[in-house]
Amino acid sequence: MIAADQWGGAPGTAARCVHGDRSIAHPGAFVVFMTTVYFAIVVPYRQIQKRRGVTVFGEPPATKACTECCSDIPEAAHKCKFCTSEQSAPPA
Ligand SMILES: [Zn+2]
Repeated sequence: MIAADQWGGAPGTAARCVHGDRSIAHPGAFVVFMTTVYFAIVVPYRQIQKRRGVTVFGEPPATKACTECCSDIPEAAHKCKFCTSEQSAPPA
């Protein structure tokens, strides 16, 4: 038999979940946790990458459909990366 205090309960009582009341299970704690993660990790990472000239978590680059294979390729592409067909010049 497993000792009850190994699982958080007093000896002689049924084992209880020790994480049930204190974890992210509470909705308010989840919001606080995610807000902390956002401001402690996402915002500094975005600032560092911005200094390096890289945009992260931003708008995806504009794309257009290839005239030959209909794949999405960057708006400024002159050649399709999938079928290597020449593309018309992007509108100025
Ligand atoms: Zn193509």
